[in-house]
Amino acid sequence: MTMNVLLTGGAGYIGSHTAIELLDMGHSVVIVDNFSNSKPEALNRIREITGKNFKFFEADVCDSAAMDKLFSENEIECVIHFAGLKAVGESCAIPVKYYRNNIDSTLTLLETMKKHGVNNFVFSSSATVYGDSDKMPLTEDMPTLTSGSPYGRTKLMIEQILTDACSADPELSVVLLRYFNPIGAHKSGRIGEDPSGIPNNLMPYISQVAVGKLPKLGIFGNDYPTPDGTCVRDYIHVVDLAKGHAKAIDYAASHKGAEAFNLGTGVGYSVLDIVNSFIKVNGIDLKYEFQPRRAGDIPECYSDPSKAERELGWKAERTIEDMCRDSWNWQKNNPNGLN
Ligand code: NAD
Ligand code: UDP
Repeated sequence: MTMNVLLTGGAGYIGSHTAIELLDMGHSVVIVDNFSNSKPEALNRIREITGKNFKFFEADVCDSAAMDKLFSENEIECVIHFAGLKAVGESCAIPVKYYRNNIDSTLTLLETMKKHGVNNFVFSSSATVYGDSDKMPLTEDMPTLTSGSPYGRTKLMIEQILTDACSADPELSVVLLRYFNPIGAHKSGRIGEDPSGIPNNLMPYISQVAVGKLPKLGIFGNDYPTPDGTCVRDYIHVVDLAKGHAKAIDYAASHKGAEAFNLGTGVGYSVLDIVNSFIKVNGIDLKYEFQPRRAGDIPECYSDPSKAERELGWKAERTIEDMCRDSWNWQKNNPNGLN
């Protein structure tokens, strides 16, 4: 069944890849974004890759008058809420802005959806809601965080708000997608992750070292209790993640209540695994040095993705080699990102 899907934050990294998958599947897409962390060119690239058009609204999702207008002018059937601020370090420096943006946008959407009789909601949550659990792999029923950053707490609070909203409204359907570490890019090399300033995350940092924009990668810690001493994460190709959203909107349309799903591969790779795979797959050199641990990092984090396979019918298919190749293909063809 095809649907008319609103993607908040659809000009961003994960939203733009999801827009491509949904358009390719024949869904109608409406995007709202305020470009606080993205560029209008992303929208041109989505149109170029898919050969399809969609409606775009430049607005802040916290602006309820703008959202009311959007919902009045469009028959939205499902909302995927990507819009949010996502930098862990920045969230410690400006927590109020993070709480305001991430929580207010969600509340505004819930109110507007209710007013317009829209009942299907898919939320971009994160593995960070599990906090510093030392039991791996992580399953959806494990306890959520007791420590962590303001960013992580916005995700947990939003999960709770959405769950409460479902308890009160038997018509509402919410899918909480707990992403692990998305990397990679569309195979065209025309769209990918485009962080502003110096990247915080591993793969954009590696790519920018490889393209000569940064001198070398610092690997944060090589004395962790992991096989090679560097941290282990569950990296997932952004196109696999995007495909998970297509499954999630189907699930939302045929269920009621709130349900959480891990979207990961279930396999953990170390920082050195990623570095070595990037070097090998792309045949390029990469300078790196070991540096002290980064505050807040946990040694290992990887998912048990079996619930998503069982209940959504979704499984990640792309390998670490695909992720490294596609990240580099994007970066080398767009050394300055989307302009
Ligand atoms: P992104 O920054 O590339 O995309 C988010 C988009 O939302 C941007 O285009 C930004 O301009 C827009 N936006 C932010 N606040 C807005 C507002 N109030 N109104 C309108 N637009 C707004 O980030 P991403 O990597 O694509 O992440 C998407 C979602 O997934 C976020 O909620 C993020 O927290 C979550 N997530 C991301 C990761 C990751 O590693 N990338 C991991 C777990 C969860
Ligand atoms: N990392 C690193 N150097 C960097 C960026 C990240 O060594 O410049 C490590 C980080 O310590 C973590 C892993 O790479 O172990 C993934 O970090 P990222 O910030 O991409 O995602 P996180 O899992 O922290 O959300």
